[in-house]
Amino acid sequence: MNKKKVLLVAENHNLASGFGTYAKNLLERLHASGKYELAEFAIYMKTSDGKDLPWKVYGNAPEDDDSDEQKQMYNSNPNNQFGAWRFDKVVLDFKPDIVLTYRDPWMDMFISKSPLLPYFHWVWMPTVDSDPQKQSWIEGFAKTDAILCYSEFGIKTLEKDAGHLLNIKGCASPGIDPKIYKPYDKKQIRQELGLDPDVNIVGTVMRNQKRKLFPELIKSFSTFLKQAPEKIKHNTYLLLHTSYPEKMGWNLGYHISEEDVGGKVLSTYICKNCKKWRIDFFRDSLNYCPDCKAISCVMPSVGLGLEVPDLVKIYNVMDLYVQYAICEGFGMPQVEATACGVPIAASNYSAMEDVLRWTHGYPINVQKMYRELETNAERVFPDNNHLVQIMNYHLMLSPEEKEAKSKQVRQATVERYDWDDCAKVWMDYIDSYKPKGVQGHWDHPPQLFHISDQMPENLNNEQFVEFIYNAVLNEPQNAFGYEATKLVRDLNIGAQVEHGIIEPINRESIINRYKQQANNKLMLEQIRSGMATLQNDTFIEMANQNDRS
Ligand SMILES: [Zn+2]
Repeated sequence: MNKKKVLLVAENHNLASGFGTYAKNLLERLHASGKYELAEFAIYMKTSDGKDLPWKVYGNAPEDDDSDEQKQMYNSNPNNQFGAWRFDKVVLDFKPDIVLTYRDPWMDMFISKSPLLPYFHWVWMPTVDSDPQKQSWIEGFAKTDAILCYSEFGIKTLEKDAGHLLNIKGCASPGIDPKIYKPYDKKQIRQELGLDPDVNIVGTVMRNQKRKLFPELIKSFSTFLKQAPEKIKHNTYLLLHTSYPEKMGWNLGYHISEEDVGGKVLSTYICKNCKKWRIDFFRDSLNYCPDCKAISCVMPSVGLGLEVPDLVKIYNVMDLYVQYAICEGFGMPQVEATACGVPIAASNYSAMEDVLRWTHGYPINVQKMYRELETNAERVFPDNNHLVQIMNYHLMLSPEEKEAKSKQVRQATVERYDWDDCAKVWMDYIDSYKPKGVQGHWDHPPQLFHISDQMPENLNNEQFVEFIYNAVLNEPQNAFGYEATKLVRDLNIGAQVEHGIIEPINRESIINRYKQQANNKLMLEQIRSGMATLQNDTFIEMANQNDRS
């Protein structure tokens, strides 16, 4: 029997992001099983960089010598950078039995709108960071054949919001490589980094962005310093491993000086010239490099960060790791810290509540839940006083007690967050699902339809939208779905209303947009059934030339 054709759509396996690391670990294991014909639709990778791999690679990024027109198209719409502009071409070429995805809802949502959706089976593990989920997202999740979740919180939320619409199959939480993320001798590593071996360090590794509560963390640390027992008061420091300044981020310098904790906050700095990094007192965004004898050090960013072995050292200097966020889809740094034997304190909400439970962390009480404008989801403010108590409690433990706690969190992490277990969840599903309808039948006879040019007169807005779904798009099943309902509402108001957008709309532009969509659908159907050929795209040709699988 032929091997099942499996297509993974994700940030490419070489990228040092959470999604990229997941791709690497999952692809390697799917490949090693020998059970599948495998392809990667590699986001942020050029096809030319996908050589010498044991699976097929379609890159989503334009080549350096691609036309300006191509590059402009790639940049014209954020969905194109996520894969929207090439996805249909990739599936027409590869003809997958099953497609696997696991990114944020808005990143993978374009797949739910692909006209080729009936021809492949689709499993999606969307990040679920808070409750309730947007209605438009639920509509997209309902187009899948199966849903996996990053955390038990995700399962609980989706069951509650849309359990009757979704086929939820369990958790495939990311793993952690216990050979890389491991405990070192804390005193030794501190000495190596020029720190006093006997200090206490409370630390965090978070992006400097709105949902991470840096000012509250700094405030809590300041309160801690005022209240802490003499024994720990003078030798405890807060380590912020983050990016600064950041366009949409917190003004860390302001908050540190406002709380008057200037000499007590440490940060990681990396030199733009020699790339050496070190931990130093927070000195705003620029710092001196002793090697280059110049002000050439900056705080790490996505573009200039630390290598993984160095990040492991950062975790290892900490006594306690704090994830102070209003929500998390997963929050990898938490399990990276616990794998290094550093216990975590985190807001007791969303995926953090599960990571806390599995790794024997310190849950920080939720002080207040509130609705966020952009997402309409519940977010939380954790209780600063409770965090202060946790810092006090943990730092006052005896060295033996700390050692025992460290062993406990390390062991629990290694047991729960294992890449083999993670890959097994996907493989068990791939090996056991039953295809529905025409899934996998890429040679199915063409399903053509007529796009009506004759719109009846005097339609009200409801009838107009029904006409579009029935006579233009040929999708009567969606005529009363979320998108159609929203369209009726927008027409009644006379404007498209979304967060950040209020734009006048009229029937003419709407009907043209849907006609274009219907024509695209027909064209793809003709290509799929062999009535037309796929326009020669160099990225497809290159993917086929490079293919060693
Ligand atoms: Zn330097």
